[in-house]
Formats: sequence, C-alpha cells, structure tokens
Amino acid sequence: MISFLDLKKINAVHAPDFQQKMTAFLERGWYILGDEVGAFEKAFSLFCGTKYCVGVGNGFDALVLLFKGYIALGKLQKGDEVLVPANTYIASILAILEADLVPVLVEPKIDTYNINPDLIIEKITSKTKAILAVHLYGQLAEMDKINSIATAHQLLVVEDAAQGHGAIIENQKRAGNLSHAAAFSFYPGKNLGALGDGGAITTNDADLAETVAILRNYGSKVKYQNDLIGVNSRLDELQAAFLNVKLPHLDDDNQKRRGIAQRYLLEIQNDKIILPFWDYSANHVFHLFVIRTKNRLELQQYLLDNHIETMIHYPIPPYRQKALKEWHSNSFPITDLIHQEVLSLPISSVLTMDEVEIIISTINKY
Ligand SMILES: *Cc1c(COP(=O)(O)O)cnc(C)c1O
Repeated sequence: MISFLDLKKINAVHAPDFQQKMTAFLERGWYILGDEVGAFEKAFSLFCGTKYCVGVGNGFDALVLLFKGYIALGKLQKGDEVLVPANTYIASILAILEADLVPVLVEPKIDTYNINPDLIIEKITSKTKAILAVHLYGQLAEMDKINSIATAHQLLVVEDAAQGHGAIIENQKRAGNLSHAAAFSFYPGKNLGALGDGGAITTNDADLAETVAILRNYGSKVKYQNDLIGVNSRLDELQAAFLNVKLPHLDDDNQKRRGIAQRYLLEIQNDKIILPFWDYSANHVFHLFVIRTKNRLELQQYLLDNHIETMIHYPIPPYRQKALKEWHSNSFPITDLIHQEVLSLPISSVLTMDEVEIIISTINKY
C-alpha cells in the first residue's frame, strides 16, 4: 500500500536528533517558554525574513491571537469584516469568528484554488478592514494584487500560511513576510510539522509581536501582572526543540515535493483528470497535490484497489457545514465545484520515485 502520508517515515530520519534534544531537555528541567522556544522563534523569523516570530499553541490560535492583537492595538474592532476565501480549511473562518470579527467569503480561482483578487473588490464595504489571504495547498496567494487592493482601501492583510511554509517569490520574500502578519501551524502533517500541536505568528510589526507574546501568556509580560485579557497558548518547549531539528531540512523537503509535483504534471495524461496550475517557480511548496475529476469517489476506489491511498481536502465547503447553518442560503458555485471534484494524491519528502511512477501509471490506466 502506498500511504497518503507516512508521518512515521518522515520523522524516523530525525529520531537520533530528537532523542538528543529530549535528553538535554530532561537535563535542563525547564519546561515552558525556554531556550528552545526562543531559539526557534529566532530561527523561524530568520527563515521567513521577518523581524519577529512568536510561538503559540497551534495554527488556529496563531490566527486568533493575530486578530485579537490588532483589536488590542485599536487597528481592528469587533464586528469588522474580514475577507477570506470561501474554499479555505474551516480553521481560517472559525478564527475570524473566534476574534468576534465577521468573515466575508470570496470565491477562489478554479485553476489555482486560491482567492480570486478580482472578486475581492466587489466584496469591500465600509466595514471591511482586513483580508485573510490563504496559501492554500502550499501555493502563494496572489499577494501583489491583494496587497495593492489593500493599500488602496486601507485594509490590513494577514496570511494564513499554515500550508505554505517556505514558499518564496523570486528568491526574495517568503510566506510569512508577504503581508502585515502571518499565522503558521506546525500540526504534524504540515510541511514543517512538530510531533504534536504547535503554531507561530510572523511579522515586522514590533507592537503586534509584543502584543501577541503577551496575549499567548495570560496577557502578562511581567509575572502576575496582567495587562490584557489573554489566553494560555504557548508553543511547547519540547515541540520547539523538535522543530529546531526539522527546520534546517524544510527547503530540501519542499524541493522534493516540487520534484514529485513536476512529474505528476508532466506525466499524468488522462482526459478525466484536471491537474492543478503551477508556474514551476518556488512559490508553491505542494503541501497537497490536488487534482479534480468528475467522479472522484470512483477514482479514489480504483486507486485504493490498486493500493494507493488518497484523501479529499476538503469534502464539504465551510459555508455548507452544519456549524455554519445561517450561511447555507449563500451561493458559491466555484467553491461547490471544487469541493465536489477535488482529490489529493500522495506527496511528501519521503515518497519514493518508484512509488510516484506507480501512481502515475495507475492513474493513466484509469
Ligand atoms: C492546519 C490549518 C490551520 C490550523 O492549524 P492547527 O495547528 O491545526 O490549529 C489553519 N489554516 C489552514 C489553512 C490550515 O491548513
């Protein structure tokens, strides 16, 4: 069986380094916000090219604390509207709601699956105050267009970079450094994954970084002195230690993913399958390789019969989820089409070229 994602194999190569970190961790006896979190924040901000990185408990909290940080700084207010792609993973939308802001959904482009900048403008009202750009499936959103619209309308731009670690524009700017502030997740399955939950924000805004650092720790900077109504969402010290082991390998891992994606794009030839758009630059880190087909359950079963595991990201659009009942009367035909037809093929830094070969030839025989 070719598994969709072999996390055990991905982490196995780092086992000796993880064990060394664990030993040193036990020796130190410092468990919360210690040297490893500090070192990771420094290393990840350097990697992204931002001045600041603040580690938090998970990707969802990274988004929520960014928005709450802007509210604490008076740059956003409860009830402000935030534009967000309608086909994102639901966490993006739930984070906006959790911060008492109002998500306004925008249709994506059918070929890149990313927010359509041309449709952003129609959705801007006097209440619109921010855009949450999502680098969905690992491909950078059209940040130049999004940022110029935002500048013209005086909007904040925040990146949901939970699927985009390391994606880069023209060897210059990376995901996390393409807007006012960004949120990352280190959930185990992400391109940079911990061995548990983890997240971070990146920004060049000193006030925002400090505010998020306070909010993640009960609103406190000086112990037992609480300046803001914060939460407990600190990046775990041990997870930070594991991330410090894995970060130096991220660019190589992403390059392997691109190599697989390139083969899929060049060698999959089947009229029943629509391949994703990619300009072959490093702006895509292929968190997922997402194809479309009319009868995806049939294709999924066929692949499974041939010992190839696939997944669907995602089967139901957020606006049609039971949790968001009041949105069911809306209409997002492109989003609906995407959610009906997408299927994710295996892609990861440990998928072998033999396995890729089998996947391609099996799909071509479908
Ligand atoms: C994974 C993910 C999140 C949430 O991250 P968690 O660490 O699971 O909370 C948010 N947005 C997107 C696009 C994601 O893929």
